[in-house]
Amino acid sequence: KGERLRLPPWLKTEIPIGKNYNRLKNTLRDLNLHTVCEEARCPNIGECWGGGEYATATATIMLMGDTCTRGCRFCSVKTARQPPPLDPDEPYNTAKAIAAWGLDYVVLTSVDRDDIADGGAEHFAKTVTNLKERNPQILVECLTPDFRGDLAAVEKIALSGLDVYAHNVETVRELQRHVRDPRANFDQSLSVLKHAKKVKPTVLTKTSIMLGLGETDQQIVSTMTELREAEVDCLTLGQYMQPTKRHLKVEEYVTPERFAHWEKVGSDMGFTYTASGPLVRSSYKAGEK
Ligand code: SF4
Ligand code: SF4
Repeated sequence: KGERLRLPPWLKTEIPIGKNYNRLKNTLRDLNLHTVCEEARCPNIGECWGGGEYATATATIMLMGDTCTRGCRFCSVKTARQPPPLDPDEPYNTAKAIAAWGLDYVVLTSVDRDDIADGGAEHFAKTVTNLKERNPQILVECLTPDFRGDLAAVEKIALSGLDVYAHNVETVRELQRHVRDPRANFDQSLSVLKHAKKVKPTVLTKTSIMLGLGETDQQIVSTMTELREAEVDCLTLGQYMQPTKRHLKVEEYVTPERFAHWEKVGSDMGFTYTASGPLVRSSYKAGEK
């Protein structure tokens, strides 16, 4: 404890930027979309936006503002008890902008809005519906809050016409209290994923775990087992990176070999899709599943 770990070489590599990247970047300015890709300075932006020859272009869009009612210890998003009210035109305008932007796959996500009665579920659902009306081909993933376990909110989104319902458990069961806001917990998150599957079995469910927060191998295995038992289809595992000095420290830089091991464990357990690597983020290569 005390000393900060040094960044290992596999996290310093340059990522190639594809042709599509510039096109998407240039058209973004006028559209008034807030992408997590840019705001979180995600290292995968070249690949996700670039698309490449056969790959699909993916981006992650933030709905409901930039201020969260919660404060997780790994996350650098701003916090307030009462963020500004929702923009009622956002579902329509965002859908219109995304449809015009030229993506194949979009991830819609948001901050947690515990200050709003339905947590913003209606807002999410409307955005999906508007988007699918304009562009039925685009694949839509919603990466949602836990809605404090409000399953009616989950159901509204699961039935909105999306393709993938994602909600992140973030870390192993044992570290939930240490890593996430106290209003979040493992069972509540599991109930969100289970309910989405129950009301709409054809929707893929997906979750994500960060490694390097001090979890043990046994804890990873048991967490993955519980997720599979809850019929979660897709799993991503990536390295936790400390966003600022005030956030949780990185306990370990997990090697690419270890990440490859967890990918194998995931496919052996029967996940439809497991993506595991130091730079994997929950939306990384989402379109290639
Ligand atoms: Fe954007 Fe997610 Fe890709 Fe990062 S991994 S660039 S946040 S879509
Ligand atoms: Fe960040 Fe989400 Fe936690 Fe809010 S709920 S602090 S956006 S991780």
